[in-house]
Amino acid sequence: STPTHIRNFCIIAHIDHGKSTLADRMLQGTGVMHERNAREQTLDNMDLERERGITIKASAVSVEHEYKGETYELNFIDTPGHVDFHYEVSRALAACEGAVLVVDATQGVEAQTVANLYKAVDANLELIPVINKIDLPSAQPEERAMQVEEVLGLDAADCIMTSAKTGVGVAELLDAICARFPEPQGNPDAPLQALIFDAIYDDYRGVVVYFRMMNGRMKKGDRILMMGAQRTYQVTELGKFRPEMTPTTEAFEAGDVGYMVAAIKTLEDVNIGDTITLDTARCDEPLPGYEEPAPMVYCDFYPSGDTQFDELRDAIARLHVNDASYTYEPTNSEALGSGFRCGFLGMLHMDIIQERLEREGNVSIVQTAPTVTYEIKIVGKGGDTEVIQITNPAELPDMSKVKDIREPIVAAEIITPTSSIGDIMKLCEQRRGVYKSQKFLADDRQILEYDLPLAEIIYDFFDKLKSITSGYGTMDYHVTGFNSDNLVKMDVLVNGNPVEALSLIVHRSKAEFRGRHLLKRLKEQIDRHLFEIPLQAAIGGKIIARETIKSVGKNVTAKCYGGDVSRKRKLLEKQKKGKERMKKVGSVDIPQEAFMSVLDTG
Ligand code: GDP
Ligand code: MG
Repeated sequence: STPTHIRNFCIIAHIDHGKSTLADRMLQGTGVMHERNAREQTLDNMDLERERGITIKASAVSVEHEYKGETYELNFIDTPGHVDFHYEVSRALAACEGAVLVVDATQGVEAQTVANLYKAVDANLELIPVINKIDLPSAQPEERAMQVEEVLGLDAADCIMTSAKTGVGVAELLDAICARFPEPQGNPDAPLQALIFDAIYDDYRGVVVYFRMMNGRMKKGDRILMMGAQRTYQVTELGKFRPEMTPTTEAFEAGDVGYMVAAIKTLEDVNIGDTITLDTARCDEPLPGYEEPAPMVYCDFYPSGDTQFDELRDAIARLHVNDASYTYEPTNSEALGSGFRCGFLGMLHMDIIQERLEREGNVSIVQTAPTVTYEIKIVGKGGDTEVIQITNPAELPDMSKVKDIREPIVAAEIITPTSSIGDIMKLCEQRRGVYKSQKFLADDRQILEYDLPLAEIIYDFFDKLKSITSGYGTMDYHVTGFNSDNLVKMDVLVNGNPVEALSLIVHRSKAEFRGRHLLKRLKEQIDRHLFEIPLQAAIGGKIIARETIKSVGKNVTAKCYGGDVSRKRKLLEKQKKGKERMKKVGSVDIPQEAFMSVLDTG
């Protein structure tokens, strides 16, 4: 297509407002799929996405739409809405001229609606606001359109009312996309510049690169250069997403979106955000890439069960092509052996990566409790001070050298029903939050702003927020810097041996409570052995809490009081299952769950 008839756009929204459903409906509306063989949620094609009902990876699709008697090519990119995946959203935005902003007609504007809108505005995108789910009895489309005008500053009259479920309004939306979004700019006669916005690894074809043409032309057979990696390849296949990958023999021009195969076996050669140019006619400058996302949460992955270290390493490197937003480096723990220290954008991201590694990489993993990054001010030789970053409490230097421990602080924006304000404020204060402001949003909703330590919100804060507000509270946050506080390192000793993977950095005022709670949880999770196992929590060598796991006779089933055979069997089966994910520390078997007890804040 010529650029005048190409529209590149993405769909952004708060989680669950209907992006993926709307995207599917647009595929049907443009005749890409026949209704009867349309599978629910075509774009959420990762098994995990379908099971969890969330979008993890952005996907791209090209479709054709007739508008005023002419054919337009629409390239759209479906994006995830969860706070951990902001990075994916930013990537999608850089490849588009327009954004469809979806707002649920029953829920209205939520925290990620606002956050995503800011991102789209920053990226200079044209916006079409959509009020979705108007088929629901509790929908208030007119009120929501007014809210979009008042809160987001977009014209209420520009809102398009849709139901992604019934299809109402979808044709109108497709027309508006052709009419209102600008055509892609770019010069087809200039040297080639194409932006890599995603990639996947395919066992047969190597790395499949998803890209957007910014300038110039590209065709099958061209010798291309990955500018960042400084590697050249020959293009063996070019194609579009319809929504399956469909090869084409036509040359790509400025504005086009598609994929490319070039027998790329070296994963490191494909960097998302990198620029592709022609080897023989190079462009002067790469395109502005993406801002590298900073990992927020770190934990260790160790091979467990039959999995070997090499297998884990390969699986991690392979998945990294598809999601470059996690980091990894080899690590070694006395208790757990060789593994990887990995960094993630958030807790959900960490969970997803672990699950994807196990499913797609076929490995079995023992994971340690996540921690945030800390900045440590230390006194070096000659009395000079120096600041180092650690991502693991075990790396904390000798406390006599430590002047200060600083932790990451986030600015959090919480949108909540007015009736929950008091309880939310109490929660924020318990989590060492600093109140910033309170603003009226709409009828019965308020926006609360707090500065909070990241370590206090990554674990269960979101669940607490949801339960306090019966599901109606939402939040968004970003790291603003590091602050010092009265933080200490707590060591945990099992059978007299310090277990690094169980140590944590806590606020002094909470240390004893956390220590006692942690030992209670460990006591429940570590099976009784043939000997007695003391558990201790210590700060700077001083024991602050202790528990003991009593020894047990050889017959474990004795505690079932004889009799019930099926109960005995169940108990034995349960023990067997738990042992599949176990690590031996000294002579004590510690199950996977025990490493996560550190997260339980009581
Ligand atoms: P996403 O997180 O923004 O991608 O949201 P999804 O597309 O996954 O939709 C979240 C939920 O809302 C799913 O259960 C959808 O079936 C439902 N949903 C989406 N659009 C509509 C709609 O127009 N009407 C109704 N009734 N439900 C919808
Ligand atoms: Mg989705």
